Amino acid sequence: MINIKSREEIELLRESALIVSKTLGEVAKLIKPGVTTLQLDKIAEEHIRDLGAIPGFLGLYDFPNTLCMSPNAQIVHGIPNDKPLEEGDIISVDCGALKNGFFGDHAYTFQVGEVDEEIKKLLQITKESLYMGIREFKIGNRVGDVGFAIQNYTEKHGYGVVRELVGHGLGREMHEDPEMPNYGRRGRGKKFKEGMVVAIEPMINMGTHRIKQFSDGWTIKTADLKPSAHFEHDIAIVNGKPELLSTFKYVYDALGIVSNEEDEFNN
Ligand code: MG
Ligand code: MG
Repeated sequence: MINIKSREEIELLRESALIVSKTLGEVAKLIKPGVTTLQLDKIAEEHIRDLGAIPGFLGLYDFPNTLCMSPNAQIVHGIPNDKPLEEGDIISVDCGALKNGFFGDHAYTFQVGEVDEEIKKLLQITKESLYMGIREFKIGNRVGDVGFAIQNYTEKHGYGVVRELVGHGLGREMHEDPEMPNYGRRGRGKKFKEGMVVAIEPMINMGTHRIKQFSDGWTIKTADLKPSAHFEHDIAIVNGKPELLSTFKYVYDALGIVSNEEDEFNN
């Protein structure tokens, strides 16, 4: 069942999403060779609690940490550890926060120092595909329209779209209906309605779309061990159109990036 949110509930969801956005901004300031994902996890947890929220992932399905930290060939659900990040790595940071009974859930894949051009391109195309998907999240469209947009764009570049993990509705539960696959067919699936809130999160592999799960029961990696990228935003349908609840603004401020990519989604 899809839970439609009131304007008030959407504002509470925005508050939770922005706590995650700010936390990703704090993490962005500290990502460099030599730092460990466990150090970043601690800082993220403190920051979320300072903002009056609790970490959304900690304890969810028994996940042990605040951040999912997935470097290089890891796709998602990586567990923070004390191995230092290295120059040329990429690291997907997925973060959740719970405040006023509502979840934020938002992710960014960072470069550690200088990375190869082909990996930079994977990050760029994956992020662009996120916005292509968001553009389709509007009245008159269906779940398949979002998935089609993401799949069509990324496969054109020869990338693999992960099938086993998908975006989702967002609200009082971290994962609500509908599932939001990053692949699909135009005009198929559930219809979008005013007041729907979802997390759209393309997980795009440089090579095969196939995955493997680590023996830790959590970490998902690419089957061919090529890199994978992951970007996620929280979005509501307001006045028939997609409105961003999360923002990469804090990440961009930390990294010195100037971007107007979100402007079209601020109603
Ligand atoms: Mg997430
Ligand atoms: Mg999510």
